Amino acid sequence: MKMLINGEWRDSVSGKVFLVHNPATGDVVGEAPLGGEDDVRSAIEAAGEAFADWSARSSRDRGKVLFFAAEEVRRRNTDLAALLTAEQGKPIREAVDEINGFANILEYYHALSAGERGEFMNLGGYGRVTVERRPLGICGAIIPWNMPAIIMGWKIGPALTAGNTVVLKPARTAPLTCMKLAEILGDAGLPPGVLNVVTGPGETVGREIARNPGVRKVSFTGEVGTGRQVALDAAPALKRLTLELGGSDPMIVCDDADIPAAVEGVVRGRFYNCGQVCTAVKRLYVYESIADEFVRRLTARVEAIVVGNGMDRGVGMGPLNNRAGLERVVGQVDAARDRDEGEIVTGGQAPRGEAYERGHFFLPTLIAGVPHDSVLFAEEVFGPVLPIATVPGLDEALELANNSRYGLGASVWTHSADVIARATEELEAGIVWVNQHLRIPPEVPFGGTKASGIGRENGSRALEEYMEEKAVLIRL
Ligand code: NAD
Repeated sequence: MKMLINGEWRDSVSGKVFLVHNPATGDVVGEAPLGGEDDVRSAIEAAGEAFADWSARSSRDRGKVLFFAAEEVRRRNTDLAALLTAEQGKPIREAVDEINGFANILEYYHALSAGERGEFMNLGGYGRVTVERRPLGICGAIIPWNMPAIIMGWKIGPALTAGNTVVLKPARTAPLTCMKLAEILGDAGLPPGVLNVVTGPGETVGREIARNPGVRKVSFTGEVGTGRQVALDAAPALKRLTLELGGSDPMIVCDDADIPAAVEGVVRGRFYNCGQVCTAVKRLYVYESIADEFVRRLTARVEAIVVGNGMDRGVGMGPLNNRAGLERVVGQVDAARDRDEGEIVTGGQAPRGEAYERGHFFLPTLIAGVPHDSVLFAEEVFGPVLPIATVPGLDEALELANNSRYGLGASVWTHSADVIARATEELEAGIVWVNQHLRIPPEVPFGGTKASGIGRENGSRALEEYMEEKAVLIRL
């Protein structure tokens, strides 16, 4: 594929391309232009030219384009999902969910596009006051490879509805689905230049988006360290920022929890997308009194997960998306093993066999009895590995849950109203689930506290993150 600038599919200025590989097989899935700073500048110019017309349209007219695109995305779900699985690695049914999730997000912002977003106040002696909400201008969207379609939707849904134009940079290892989705938006009536997609490395394409003063806002999703660099690069131009960074979500299982439901919660919460979800369950705290039974049932369930190529029938977990990610997870498990930090109950290595030799596979892994100061609790583990610790009760569970530099999501599994009240009050997180984990419908504001980020995506107020207010005081 080529990259999308001003409604045209172009090669990069350098003329170079990079290959996108299937993480399950190593086969080439496609190629994308190796963009650089000049390509970003062209995209910014195109986005600047498109802004006047797009921002002058009614919000309802803009929303209609998203709605038509959503319909087309649903119609082509099967092909889009297959492409997503091929480049990203997730099981096909998760890819189908993700593509539907993208359509849900567009439909949600289409619905909001009909709402009134100004204010009027009669302030007596101060006069009659209107507060207009206006788009910011050109917005940059930098996204990772783990949930490319959903995260693209979280950024472009509100940005475009609010009347901004966008320069989007997908991740190197999963750009193709994003490009197809951009193509569908164009076919649905998005004018040239309103959404531009520049593919290439973070160090050039991503940095130029962050630095270029023509971009008024950057919404970035990725690692904490990269987010910090984006913030530094964006600082001279005093840009608005949304940073959705890493997470290390705790899950607390109390002694009155519905154990089978909590076991399923862990399986989905930790092993969905091969554990590569920002709000995955990354630390499990189980009450001592139920720990043996819980770990036994969980182990049986986890050992039943079929690992393989996401396109194959019955596969419950695919490979990791890329070699670097696999090596990092292997390094974290090895570090814990070397320091005797807990017992590997199941997994702890790559699956054996010819089917796995060319992919980035790792078995779903449970490590029990992990000490609280382990690397597995301190660092974000972005793969299918779950450290488990036991706790005597709620006080210690909450203290350990909050003892993290991250604060993205957290869950508590109980039926006690008192525990729910305390946990939802005290857990330091942007999103707290009770008796569930991971689910984020478009209506729910999403983002983190502490090192997990700044700002919120999703939900109605995400639109405000892409607008600024202008107050007008009139005295006649
Ligand atoms: P990453 O930070 O390596 O890359 C994210 C994006 O930034 C990519 O497109 C990359 O090319 C680009 N990039 C790299 N260097 C850059 C730079 N200097 N300037 C601008 N852009 C640059 O992250 P990743 O490995 O793709 O994703 C995994 C991380 O993302 C995990 O930490 C995960 O928790 C986090 N994540 C967070 C959320 C959330 O909403 N909080 C969602 C998904 C993933």
